[in-house]
Amino acid sequence: MDEIFKQALPVLQKLTAAGFEAYFVGGSVRDFLIGRKIADVDIATSAFPEEVKEIFPKTYDTGIEHGTVTVRENGTFYEITTFRTEGTYEDFRRPKEVTFIRSLTEDLRRRDFTMNAIAMDAAGRFIDPFRGKEAITAKQICAVGDPHERFHEDALRMMRAIRFVSQLDFQLDQATRQALQENKALLAHTAVERKTTEWVKLLQGKAVNKALKLLVDSGVEVYLPGLQGKQEALLQLATWHFSKLQDELATWLLLAAAVKPESASQFLRAWKLSNKTIQVVSKAYERLMDYPEEWTATDLYYAGEQVLCLVGSAFEIMYAKDGVVNELLKQYGELPIHSRDELMADGRDLMAWTGKAPGKWLKITIEKLEKEIVQGRLSNTSDAIKRWVVDEESR
Ligand code: ATP
Ligand code: MG
Repeated sequence: MDEIFKQALPVLQKLTAAGFEAYFVGGSVRDFLIGRKIADVDIATSAFPEEVKEIFPKTYDTGIEHGTVTVRENGTFYEITTFRTEGTYEDFRRPKEVTFIRSLTEDLRRRDFTMNAIAMDAAGRFIDPFRGKEAITAKQICAVGDPHERFHEDALRMMRAIRFVSQLDFQLDQATRQALQENKALLAHTAVERKTTEWVKLLQGKAVNKALKLLVDSGVEVYLPGLQGKQEALLQLATWHFSKLQDELATWLLLAAAVKPESASQFLRAWKLSNKTIQVVSKAYERLMDYPEEWTATDLYYAGEQVLCLVGSAFEIMYAKDGVVNELLKQYGELPIHSRDELMADGRDLMAWTGKAPGKWLKITIEKLEKEIVQGRLSNTSDAIKRWVVDEESR
């Protein structure tokens, strides 16, 4: 058994000692069987949330309405979710209500794919009523039960299928692939935020190339923000060297670079990203689209470290280059200053030296000063700046 499961064993044991069933489930069991790094361990139990709370001295109601209670064991937090079925589905979205049940098999039945519907008990035995292990051996993604029904219940599962193709380098079995083709339009009803989560994982997977081809072949892009009619851009994106990709911001930058939207910020806003992400990625996008042949000191300074890293890594990925980020950071490091805070004089000094009251001149003078110093025409010392300011005033 993997160390990460061993550490979590006391949680299972406490539940079973109290007379309940408890298992490891979901992505952790799948990733263990694949030999992939396990992200986090999810636990499913026959105990109802109130019963879980009686067993553990301290619990957190992180998702209590869905039956999830978080507990802490040896400094690690674990989510314990009561076996459940997911009542009625409205509008092809995740159901609002869930029903708690005592049957593991019924809990596994509501899961999306057979590879995600395997449970493992405290002794390391697998409970695999839908033959998920076979699917894993065959590298296949198969819906649990009838794929049409399952995609009707929750259309996001189609995005998840493609995301798993990318992360695991598996393929959809024929029935699941067919159901994707026939039901993709249901994705129009799925909340953007849920699509965004899957999309980021998709673009960061090791078989992103294959996943993007599947996405375009099945026409799913039509239901993703700003990607209607962008098949070619997505296929181009698929050819870039994604193995270097680590960062979510760079993912969005590359997507924008492939799609070339009229307004990057509008495009990113459609994916409901945070304002901070939109701002940084849009700035990086402008710079990437207008990539300098030689980076001047002012180019580097006004880009700033974060944007330089983003633009540099996107450039490396698009053009299969090495060392671009390092080179940009080296040049950036050699700048005399990196922000206004590093100037050896501030507004108060400027007013004292000139005897002038605050006003618009101050902002203009500081901006000019910044440029002089960045471009190496003036040294960043209090004396030099004073001389320059007094000179400037007398001009
Ligand atoms: P990851 O490694 O990215 O976390 P995961 O398989 O654990 O992958 P989660 O979103 O964490 O994915 O979901 C945990 C489990 O819950 C899944 O393995 C699956 O059994 C089930 N699940 C998640 N989302 C759905 C869904 N939309 N429909 C049905 N089952 C789902
Ligand atoms: Mg998970």
